[in-house]
This record gives sequence, C-alpha cells and structure tokens, in this order.
Amino acid sequence: MSRAKSGSPEDLLVDVIGALAISSSSCMVICSQGIPVGIITEQDLVRLFYKYSEYGLPDDLTAGEVMTKDPITFNTAMDLSEAIAIMKTQNLRHLPVVSETGKLAGLITLGDMVEAYSVLVEENHKLEEVSEELHWLSMEDCLTEMPNRRAMERDLMHAEARAQRYNETYTVALIDIDFFKPYNDYYGHLKGDEALKSVASVLKAVARTSDRVFRYGGEEFLYFMPNSSIDDAGSAADRLRIALEKENFEHAKNPYGKLTISVGVALGTEIKWQNVLEYADKALYEAKETGRNRVCIARQPGIEQVQEIVRKRIGPAVKEDPHSSVASAKS
Ligand code: GH3
Ligand code: MG
Ligand code: MG
Repeated sequence: MSRAKSGSPEDLLVDVIGALAISSSSCMVICSQGIPVGIITEQDLVRLFYKYSEYGLPDDLTAGEVMTKDPITFNTAMDLSEAIAIMKTQNLRHLPVVSETGKLAGLITLGDMVEAYSVLVEENHKLEEVSEELHWLSMEDCLTEMPNRRAMERDLMHAEARAQRYNETYTVALIDIDFFKPYNDYYGHLKGDEALKSVASVLKAVARTSDRVFRYGGEEFLYFMPNSSIDDAGSAADRLRIALEKENFEHAKNPYGKLTISVGVALGTEIKWQNVLEYADKALYEAKETGRNRVCIARQPGIEQVQEIVRKRIGPAVKEDPHSSVASAKS
C-alpha cells in the first residue's frame, strides 16, 4: 500500500493539479472529514482537459465538481486477493484503502500490485527450491550420503515395470559388511559409523556410473545394475569386494584382519522386486556360510533360460577373472 494524496471537495482543481504535479502522484482521493467521497485520477484529468480544450479550464472549478463520486474502496480487514479481484473486475488502477472506521488509510496502485506479485513469485520460487531440496534429502541417507531405501524402492519398482513391459532384465547385489557387530564392540559405535562411511565411499567410487548403490539399512548396501546380465553383475560386484579388500581398513575381529564384504547377486525379471531381493538375500547367506569376503550368485528357477535370452540380446558376459571368488549359490 502507498501513501494516499488527499484533498477536500472544496479544493480548486488547479490546486489539485499543482499538488499532483509536485508530488508525482497519479491520483488524489477526495475526503470529507477523512472519509473518501471521491477520487480524481490522471485519466479524469485527461478527459477534463479534452472537454475544456477550446476555452481552457475554468479557474473556479472545484475538486467536488469533477471527481468520480463514491469510489470503490478496500478495507484493511480484507484479503489481498480480494483487492486483486476488485481491481481486475472493475478495471481500476487505484484503490483507496480505508480503516475499519471508514477513514482513508492509504492507496493501492497497479504498481503496488506488480511489486506484490513479483515478491510472491520470488517467494514461490524459493519454496519450490526448498521443497525440491527436502525431496532429495528424504531420498538420501545422512550418514553415508547415499540414496536411501526409499530411493531404492522407487528405482526397483521402475526396473520391475520395465522388466514386465520390455522384457528387460536387471541385477541386484546385496552387500553386507562382515563381522560388523564385533567391529562396533571392539572399536566403538562412532568408529563403526566412520567405517560405514569409508565402505560407502569405496562402493560409490568403484560402482559404474550407469549403476547405483543404496544404503539398504544397517551395514547393508544394495548395488543396482539396470539392464545387465547375471554374469556381468557377478564380476561388477566382485570388483567392489576386491576394491574394499585393497583398502586394508583394519578390522581386528575379522579373520581377514580387515573390513570385508559378502555379496549375494540376483537377477531381476518380470517377478516382484521383493522376490528378487529374497533371492539375493539367500545368495548372501550362502556367501556368509561359505567363508565370507566373497560373491555368491543366486540360483533362481528358470535363470538359465533367461540368461540365454539376455546373452543373445546384450552380448556375452564379461570375461571371468581368474582371481575372482564369484560362486554360484545352491538353489
Ligand atoms: P555378519 O558377518 O554375519 O554380517 O556379522 P555382523 O556382525 O556384521 O552382522 P550382525 O547383523 O550381527 O550385526 C550388524 C551390526 O551392524 C549390528 C549393528 O550394531 C551394526 N550397525 C547397523 N547400523 C549401524 C550404524 O549405522 N552404525 C554403526 N556403528 N553400526 C551399525
Ligand atoms: Mg547384516
Ligand atoms: Mg554384517
């Protein structure tokens, strides 16, 4: 709201024009005992000058004689959106604002509205940014700064839908840190957190950019490889295992003397993604049972046939690494 220039009905029009010129105002609200009874705007003056263009404006013309009577006003108790609606429907450029007692309190101009609108647009933009940031934060695990389980579920749901629609396959590798409870017990929970972060960094650094690693929960991660075959996934998962081994992060309570991971790999077809994770979990159990620090591949029903189709479509599996400890789990 702006300050309103006001005058009284008895004021001479020439004085009104003078006052408007000096104050660079675009209108004058004419009041009687503080209450708006009329308004003189630039447009009114243009019309007057046109009317009196031949003889000139009479010197004794008063504001009361030329003003637009009973102007539409806006009450301070009303909502701004109502002011916008009034100005729009009545095609007004100036809206006198009155207090609850009906006395002139100010003026809303079209310029004020434009300013208010630009502030609103800016606020809205800021809100959108905050909401987007919140959205991403809700998808990220704060300890490891990895996408979290929610993000994982969204991606797996999407992968399952693609598998059903386009016959595409995907793979998942369920990764579990070995002997992590003894790690916490021996080094303390804070060091445990640090270890989790270190493992997460290695996984993030080594995972292919087309794949994603999520924190599945606790000391478990999920490596998601879209559009991949099971052999390819076994090699990719083993690269993560070897990369962590090479870091030599001390773990006195692990027989290997360092932090290691066990991994279960499964193939995602048109079946429910939760069932794919169950297969991966079984393979992980097998990896734990057979000595840890290894990758096991799930033996899923019908996997050979699916693999054959996949091999034909996306080419042969990555060459077997002679040092790899990838094994197939029993079904
Ligand atoms: P295994 O080799 O069979 O996987 O043994 P494990 O000790 O790793 O498995 P277990 O499931 O018994 O223990 C997992 C431990 O991981 C227990 C829990 O305290 C720890 N853990 C889970 N989340 C966190 C975390 O955010 N921070 C820390 N410091 N520890 C965690
Ligand atoms: Mg676990
Ligand atoms: Mg564990």
